Amino acid sequence: TTNIVLDTQLPEAYKFKKIKHIILVASGKGGVGKSTTAVNFALALQSQGANVGLLDADIYGPSIPSLLGLVGEQPTAKDDKMLNPMEKYGLKSMSIGYLVPAENATVWRGPMASQALNQLLNETDWGDLDYLIVDMPPGTGDIQLTMTQKLPASGAVIVTTPQDLALADAQKGIAMFSQVNLPIIGLVENMSFFNCTHCGEKNHLFGQDGGNQLAARHGVPLLAEIPLDVNIREESERGANFIENASPITEHYTYCAQLVSS
Ligand code: ADP
Repeated sequence: TTNIVLDTQLPEAYKFKKIKHIILVASGKGGVGKSTTAVNFALALQSQGANVGLLDADIYGPSIPSLLGLVGEQPTAKDDKMLNPMEKYGLKSMSIGYLVPAENATVWRGPMASQALNQLLNETDWGDLDYLIVDMPPGTGDIQLTMTQKLPASGAVIVTTPQDLALADAQKGIAMFSQVNLPIIGLVENMSFFNCTHCGEKNHLFGQDGGNQLAARHGVPLLAEIPLDVNIREESERGANFIENASPITEHYTYCAQLVSS
């Protein structure tokens, strides 16, 4: 699935002139919480008054429809060329998951996948946005590199867990963005620790301090250490907006958003 080439010029400058900042949310490997971070980061930015869009660029594993509770819903056409983005909690989003059933997307060959990505990028009428958050496909292969080169992004946020393998892959992400001179806004360490529900003790079950060390080694900020928290999983599965619910986990995402918007 890595031999994907985005075959049209992306983006034509005029299409993005109404978008002030494109921010990529990336991870070196799957399952670390990249999409969860992208959604909550987008909602947190929005709760600070920004106009925000969320592009699900994870063609092979789109999770934005589920994270926003929009499974089975479809965008409307604006005209014969452009689609209106979906809207939930005031957040605009576009995902291949809105357009084709998940089981079809997984068997796509490269050219079809790249065409789909082009369509999501160029044929969505995003309108005026302060931020377009892009939930990148996991990994650091051709598709990620090409997207990074073609999108006029302002910066990237890299999500990792404290596990050695995830950190090693996050480091590849840092290297990839450095190679194309894209500023790294910071690292988010997800699943950093677990607060024992019985004794309240902080458990560093995937290891301790890895995100901090990686960030320090590359001179990038560590934006957040987000706990492994059953509410995050449950609320995400419900497609809830837990940024609105002012739960203790919310503050991590809000803090990230404040750093980025300042
Ligand atoms: P990725 O985009 O990196 O593949 P996801 O954001 O889809 O990862 O998250 C993978 C799974 O882990 C999801 O079921 C999600 O609800 C869960 N998850 C992510 N972050 C946390 C967390 N901090 N605490 C608990 N569950 C989490």
